Amino acid sequence: MSFVPPGTGWPDDPATPSTPVATTPAEVADLAAHSPSIGELTARQSVCRACPRLVAWREEVADVKRRAYQNETYWGRPIAGWGDDDPKVLIVGLAPAAHGGNRTGRIFTGDRSGDWLFASLHRTGLAAQPTSVHAGDGQRLIGARMVAAVRCAPPANKPTPGERDNCFPWLLQELRLVRPRAIVALGGFAWQAIWPALKAVGHPLPTPRPAFGHGVEVPLDGTTLIGCYHPSQQNTFTGRVTEPMLDAVFTRAASL
Ligand code: SF4
Repeated sequence: MSFVPPGTGWPDDPATPSTPVATTPAEVADLAAHSPSIGELTARQSVCRACPRLVAWREEVADVKRRAYQNETYWGRPIAGWGDDDPKVLIVGLAPAAHGGNRTGRIFTGDRSGDWLFASLHRTGLAAQPTSVHAGDGQRLIGARMVAAVRCAPPANKPTPGERDNCFPWLLQELRLVRPRAIVALGGFAWQAIWPALKAVGHPLPTPRPAFGHGVEVPLDGTTLIGCYHPSQQNTFTGRVTEPMLDAVFTRAASL
């Protein structure tokens, strides 16, 4: 089996064997819109099979594995939203990494970007521990929640526009259910992906739409969108994003 079957004991697995599985974009839209709670929504997200290319990739990666992780069981399923069920800060990323979230079963966990992110969240009081290694490691978010705009690891870290659209109803329903006071978009892709969801939940949007940038704030009705450079290795190596820059964004988001 190239993925963890739901309800078989993986720590924090939100699904059970009876969780309904979306196999088409129409089923994603229907199951997302009729998820009554964040628990049921994340369960349904975590077993979704609506994007054939991504399902094949996430399971092939989970089967073949990276040499360094040969002895590990890979999650091999979509990475559901994770964190506080009633957060004041919602962090939106692009998509899980093939050997990061797709391996560990938790968003931003098991790769270098996540190391930077969780360290900053801990310094700013939004995470209980400075590291996030694997589902079940005791890490928890404090007043914060993380979601990916696309929940399955894509080849070359690049989802297609169609895959982004397929996954959109999961994002939209999560935003409907959590209503955060601040939304931090990690990177330009997340910045672009969140606007339609903000519009769909009833936020009047500014025209023209502000361009993405680090620390850019857009006050909306009841929440504030904040841009943050993605702590990718390229950005951290080059100094485009630094620890103080990340901390400033999360301190600001937590203060709203
Ligand atoms: S990317 Fe989203 S819609 Fe596509 S299979 Fe994964 S969870 Fe489902």
